[in-house]
Amino acid sequence: MEGPASLASRLLGTYNFLTWTIRRPEILSQCLKVTRAACSEYAEVLSEAGADAVCIVDGIAGPDMLDPRHLDTLIRPEYESLCGSGKGIKLIHVCGNSTPILKILSECGFQGVSIEEKVTDLPAAKKLVGSKTKLIGNLSSSGVILNGTCEEIKLEAQKCLEDGIDILAPGCGIAPKTPIKNIKALVEARDEYYQTGKIRVRTRSNCASGLCGPYHRAQED
Ligand SMILES: [Zn+2]
Repeated sequence: MEGPASLASRLLGTYNFLTWTIRRPEILSQCLKVTRAACSEYAEVLSEAGADAVCIVDGIAGPDMLDPRHLDTLIRPEYESLCGSGKGIKLIHVCGNSTPILKILSECGFQGVSIEEKVTDLPAAKKLVGSKTKLIGNLSSSGVILNGTCEEIKLEAQKCLEDGIDILAPGCGIAPKTPIKNIKALVEARDEYYQTGKIRVRTRSNCASGLCGPYHRAQED
Protein backbone atom coordinates (compact mmCIF):
# COMPACT_ATOMS: atom_id res chain seq x y z
CA MET A 1 0.00 0.00 0.00
CA GLU A 2 1.04 3.59 -0.50
CA GLY A 3 2.70 5.22 2.48
CA PRO A 4 1.69 8.54 4.07
CA ALA A 5 4.21 10.56 2.06
CA SER A 6 3.21 9.09 -1.32
CA LEU A 7 -0.45 9.50 -0.50
CA ALA A 8 0.09 13.14 0.50
CA SER A 9 2.08 13.81 -2.68
CA ARG A 10 -0.77 12.41 -4.79
CA LEU A 11 -3.33 14.58 -3.02
CA LEU A 12 -1.22 17.75 -3.03
CA GLY A 13 0.74 17.18 -6.23
CA THR A 14 4.43 16.31 -6.26
CA TYR A 15 5.53 19.92 -6.80
CA ASN A 16 3.56 21.20 -3.83
CA PHE A 17 4.63 18.29 -1.65
CA LEU A 18 8.32 18.89 -2.29
CA THR A 19 8.24 22.68 -2.09
CA TRP A 20 6.10 22.64 1.06
CA THR A 21 8.79 20.65 2.86
CA ILE A 22 10.70 23.97 2.78
CA ARG A 23 8.07 26.69 2.42
CA ARG A 24 5.13 25.34 4.41
CA PRO A 25 6.39 22.53 6.62
CA GLU A 26 3.73 23.11 9.27
CA ILE A 27 0.89 22.65 6.72
CA LEU A 28 2.58 19.64 5.18
CA SER A 29 2.94 18.17 8.64
CA GLN A 30 -0.82 18.47 9.13
CA CYS A 31 -1.44 16.80 5.76
CA LEU A 32 0.89 13.94 6.68
CA LYS A 33 -1.05 13.35 9.88
CA VAL A 34 -4.23 12.92 7.83
CA THR A 35 -2.64 10.57 5.29
CA ARG A 36 -0.91 8.58 8.04
CA ALA A 37 -4.25 8.10 9.80
CA ALA A 38 -5.72 6.79 6.53
CA CYS A 39 -2.75 4.43 6.14
CA SER A 40 -3.10 3.17 9.72
CA GLU A 41 -6.78 2.50 9.22
CA TYR A 42 -6.21 0.67 5.94
CA ALA A 43 -3.34 -1.37 7.42
CA GLU A 44 -5.62 -2.41 10.25
CA VAL A 45 -8.32 -3.56 7.82
CA LEU A 46 -5.76 -5.56 5.84
CA SER A 47 -4.46 -7.11 9.02
CA GLU A 48 -7.94 -8.08 10.17
CA ALA A 49 -8.61 -9.59 6.73
CA GLY A 50 -5.65 -11.93 7.24
CA ALA A 51 -2.58 -10.12 5.89
CA ASP A 52 0.56 -11.39 7.65
CA ALA A 53 2.46 -8.20 6.88
CA VAL A 54 1.70 -4.80 5.43
CA CYS A 55 4.35 -3.12 3.30
CA ILE A 56 4.12 0.59 2.66
CA VAL A 57 5.76 2.01 -0.44
CA ASP A 58 6.94 5.59 -0.10
CA GLY A 59 9.10 6.32 -3.10
CA ILE A 60 8.88 10.07 -2.65
CA ALA A 61 10.41 9.80 0.82
CA GLY A 62 13.65 8.39 -0.60
CA PRO A 63 16.85 10.43 -0.83
CA ASP A 64 16.52 10.63 -4.63
CA MET A 65 13.49 12.89 -4.08
CA LEU A 66 13.60 14.24 -0.55
CA ASP A 67 16.31 15.64 1.69
CA PRO A 68 16.84 13.06 4.48
CA ARG A 69 16.62 15.91 7.01
CA HIS A 70 13.00 16.48 5.96
CA LEU A 71 12.30 12.78 6.22
CA ASP A 72 13.61 12.94 9.75
CA THR A 73 11.62 15.98 10.87
CA LEU A 74 8.37 15.66 8.89
CA ILE A 75 7.80 12.02 8.02
CA ARG A 76 9.59 10.07 10.72
CA PRO A 77 6.97 10.94 13.40
CA GLU A 78 4.25 9.57 11.13
CA TYR A 79 6.17 6.35 10.46
CA GLU A 80 6.65 5.90 14.20
CA SER A 81 2.94 6.41 14.72
CA LEU A 82 2.06 3.97 11.92
CA CYS A 83 4.38 1.29 13.27
CA GLY A 84 3.13 1.81 16.80
CA SER A 85 -0.54 1.41 15.91
CA GLY A 86 -2.54 -1.72 15.23
CA LYS A 87 -1.47 -5.30 14.82
CA GLY A 88 0.69 -7.07 12.30
CA ILE A 89 4.11 -6.72 10.80
CA LYS A 90 4.95 -3.40 9.17
CA LEU A 91 7.46 -3.17 6.34
CA ILE A 92 8.59 -0.31 4.13
CA HIS A 93 9.96 -0.06 0.62
CA VAL A 94 11.76 3.05 -0.60
CA CYS A 95 12.99 3.25 -4.19
CA GLY A 96 16.47 4.26 -5.31
CA ASN A 97 19.58 4.29 -3.18
CA SER A 98 18.05 4.45 0.29
CA THR A 99 21.38 4.03 2.11
CA PRO A 100 21.32 7.55 3.65
CA ILE A 101 17.96 6.91 5.36
CA LEU A 102 18.25 3.24 6.36
CA LYS A 103 19.14 4.07 9.95
CA ILE A 104 16.17 6.43 10.32
CA LEU A 105 13.78 3.85 8.85
CA SER A 106 15.04 1.12 11.16
CA GLU A 107 14.49 3.40 14.16
CA CYS A 108 10.84 4.03 13.24
CA GLY A 109 9.76 0.52 14.20
CA PHE A 110 9.50 -1.21 10.82
CA GLN A 111 10.30 -4.91 11.12
CA GLY A 112 11.75 -4.93 7.63
CA VAL A 113 13.13 -2.46 5.10
CA SER A 114 12.94 -3.36 1.42
CA ILE A 115 15.78 -1.99 -0.67
CA GLU A 116 16.55 -1.74 -4.36
CA GLU A 117 19.70 -2.92 -6.11
CA LYS A 118 20.88 0.69 -6.05
CA VAL A 119 21.90 -0.02 -2.46
CA THR A 120 25.17 -1.64 -3.44
CA ASP A 121 27.04 -1.99 -0.14
CA LEU A 122 24.89 -4.61 1.59
CA PRO A 123 27.18 -5.25 4.60
CA ALA A 124 27.11 -1.49 5.33
CA ALA A 125 23.32 -1.44 4.85
CA LYS A 126 22.93 -4.32 7.28
CA LYS A 127 25.00 -2.46 9.84
CA LEU A 128 22.82 0.63 9.43
CA VAL A 129 19.53 -1.19 10.06
CA GLY A 130 20.92 -3.28 12.91
CA SER A 131 19.76 -6.67 14.09
CA LYS A 132 16.12 -5.80 14.89
CA THR A 133 15.17 -4.78 11.34
CA LYS A 134 15.30 -7.28 8.49
CA LEU A 135 16.85 -6.27 5.20
CA ILE A 136 14.65 -7.28 2.24
CA GLY A 137 15.66 -7.37 -1.42
CA ASN A 138 17.44 -6.68 -3.60
CA LEU A 139 17.66 -8.38 -6.99
CA SER A 140 17.03 -5.92 -9.78
CA SER A 141 13.41 -6.19 -10.95
CA SER A 142 14.11 -4.43 -14.22
CA GLY A 143 17.52 -6.07 -14.65
CA VAL A 144 18.37 -9.64 -13.76
CA ILE A 145 14.82 -10.75 -12.84
CA LEU A 146 13.37 -9.39 -16.09
CA ASN A 147 16.21 -10.15 -18.47
CA GLY A 148 18.55 -12.60 -16.77
CA THR A 149 18.84 -16.34 -17.06
CA CYS A 150 17.88 -18.56 -14.13
CA GLU A 151 21.59 -19.18 -13.58
CA GLU A 152 22.27 -15.45 -13.30
CA ILE A 153 19.35 -15.01 -10.91
CA LYS A 154 20.67 -17.75 -8.66
CA LEU A 155 24.19 -16.32 -8.65
CA GLU A 156 22.81 -12.89 -7.75
CA ALA A 157 20.57 -14.39 -5.07
CA GLN A 158 23.54 -16.16 -3.47
CA LYS A 159 25.51 -12.91 -3.41
CA CYS A 160 22.61 -10.97 -1.83
CA LEU A 161 22.14 -13.54 0.93
CA GLU A 162 25.84 -13.83 1.65
CA ASP A 163 26.24 -10.05 1.81
CA GLY A 164 23.51 -9.47 4.43
CA ILE A 165 20.04 -9.72 2.90
CA ASP A 166 17.71 -11.40 5.40
CA ILE A 167 14.70 -11.91 3.14
CA LEU A 168 15.36 -12.57 -0.53
CA ALA A 169 12.99 -10.60 -2.76
CA PRO A 170 12.84 -8.49 -5.91
CA GLY A 171 14.33 -5.03 -5.32
CA CYS A 172 11.11 -3.31 -6.46
CA GLY A 173 7.81 -4.19 -8.11
CA ILE A 174 7.98 -7.10 -10.56
CA ALA A 175 8.12 -5.76 -14.11
CA PRO A 176 5.44 -6.69 -16.66
CA LYS A 177 6.52 -9.57 -18.95
CA THR A 178 8.89 -11.01 -16.34
CA PRO A 179 9.12 -14.72 -17.24
CA ILE A 180 7.47 -16.93 -14.63
CA LYS A 181 10.48 -19.26 -14.69
CA ASN A 182 12.62 -16.40 -13.42
CA ILE A 183 10.34 -15.93 -10.43
CA LYS A 184 10.46 -19.69 -9.84
CA ALA A 185 14.26 -19.58 -9.97
CA LEU A 186 14.22 -16.90 -7.27
CA VAL A 187 11.95 -19.01 -5.06
CA GLU A 188 14.10 -22.10 -5.69
CA ALA A 189 17.25 -20.14 -4.79
CA ARG A 190 15.68 -19.07 -1.50
CA ASP A 191 14.59 -22.62 -0.63
CA GLU A 192 17.99 -24.09 -1.45
CA TYR A 193 19.83 -21.45 0.55
CA TYR A 194 17.74 -21.87 3.69
CA GLN A 195 17.60 -25.65 3.45
CA THR A 196 21.24 -26.33 2.66
CA GLY A 197 23.08 -23.02 3.06
CA LYS A 198 24.06 -23.14 -0.58
CA ILE A 199 22.28 -22.41 -3.84
CA ARG A 200 22.75 -24.97 -6.60
CA VAL A 201 23.70 -23.06 -9.70
CA ARG A 202 23.10 -25.43 -12.56
CA THR A 203 25.23 -25.43 -15.65
CA ARG A 204 24.17 -26.26 -19.16
CA SER A 205 25.38 -29.80 -18.68
CA ASN A 206 23.60 -30.69 -15.45
CA CYS A 207 20.31 -28.83 -15.71
CA ALA A 208 17.59 -31.40 -16.11
CA SER A 209 14.63 -29.82 -14.35
CA GLY A 210 13.58 -27.59 -17.20
CA LEU A 211 12.92 -24.92 -14.60
CA CYS A 212 16.28 -23.30 -15.11
CA GLY A 213 16.66 -23.88 -18.80
CA PRO A 214 16.90 -22.98 -21.55
CA TYR A 215 20.06 -21.01 -20.98
CA HIS A 216 19.42 -18.03 -23.11
CA ARG A 217 18.08 -14.61 -22.39
CA ALA A 218 14.51 -14.50 -21.17
CA GLN A 219 13.57 -11.96 -23.82
CA GLU A 220 14.41 -14.50 -26.48
CA ASP A 221 11.80 -16.94 -25.13
ZN1 LIG B 1 11.30 0.58 -5.67
